[in-house]
Amino acid sequence: MTPRRTADINFPETLKLSSDERKAVSASPAPPFKITKHWLSLLDGSLDDPLRRQVVPTTAEQLILPGELQDPLGEDAFSPLPRLVHRYTNRVLVVVTGQCAQYCRHCFRRRLTGDSFGEITETQIQDISCWLSLHSEVKELLLSGGDPLTLKDNKLFKIMDSFRMARPDIVFRLATRMPIVDPERITTSLARELGRRRPLWVVIQTNHPRELSPKAISSIESFQLRGLPVINQAVLLRGVNDNIEILEELSNTLVRIGVKPYYLFQGDMAEGTGHFRLPLEEGLRLSGELRARVSGLGMPSYAVDLPGGGGKVPLDITYIQNRCDEGWNLRTPDGIEGLYKENL
Ligand code: SF4
Repeated sequence: MTPRRTADINFPETLKLSSDERKAVSASPAPPFKITKHWLSLLDGSLDDPLRRQVVPTTAEQLILPGELQDPLGEDAFSPLPRLVHRYTNRVLVVVTGQCAQYCRHCFRRRLTGDSFGEITETQIQDISCWLSLHSEVKELLLSGGDPLTLKDNKLFKIMDSFRMARPDIVFRLATRMPIVDPERITTSLARELGRRRPLWVVIQTNHPRELSPKAISSIESFQLRGLPVINQAVLLRGVNDNIEILEELSNTLVRIGVKPYYLFQGDMAEGTGHFRLPLEEGLRLSGELRARVSGLGMPSYAVDLPGGGGKVPLDITYIQNRCDEGWNLRTPDGIEGLYKENL
């Protein structure tokens, strides 16, 4: 089955751009800009709509701050083959396409996204399959991009089957925003076929509770009905979710629909994304407040990727006050202090 490609929305007929937005989209070179009809239907019409901020370019993107990088995670240095990233011993990432249904303004992989990067080729699939068969230390493979669900179903299954053939024990993770941005792409046959390719975890990115529309929830359910666990990686974004009530509602809604809030990422040092980043101190405060408000199930791990390829660092305020002769002085997220006696 061939997926329905999401058409670019023409502006300004369907989306009234502000003068700043118009200036940004007509810059040279033009930033990748695509918005799905579904996302467009969720916009509230205001310029500071958190959903609009995630997708419509502004001139703030043209400001490159010191320390910002094209490849903020240093992925290119950990690439033994084209499209393959081997940063951690036990897992790899494959950039199967550069295309997305719509382009997020905060994307850290923006050097690769857009039509020009194209899709993985036959030769590249075979080369990576061969590499996998020689690297038994790799236990998990992240299908990423771009968005893998912009590929035709048959191509996606062919890629997965080739990797699985090379390594029958491999666990897949599928990183996609499609259930959120274009839920109709998640057809019954796609969910069923992906269900046949378990073990497979679906990793979505939802940053604001309004993204979890009835259609998005039902597309997530179609994965869950086929035994596919769904987890969420949010990005902490100024003007989108830098607010404790929004973060709490996002976590509670995700838990209610059976999606584990997995990560809350500090914004990466990607070029032109400074207007989205919060100081780490503010992120730590929000994460600490969130921990006091939601259950352990609803608490994502607040983390940052070290610029240049150092890897992920979990961030948290400490709940250990100090160690004393009798044990440990601890403090709960609610601020209650107590002694944990260590009688070993
Ligand atoms: S869907 Fe993912 S890869 Fe595509 S633009 Fe958004 S963050 Fe980047």
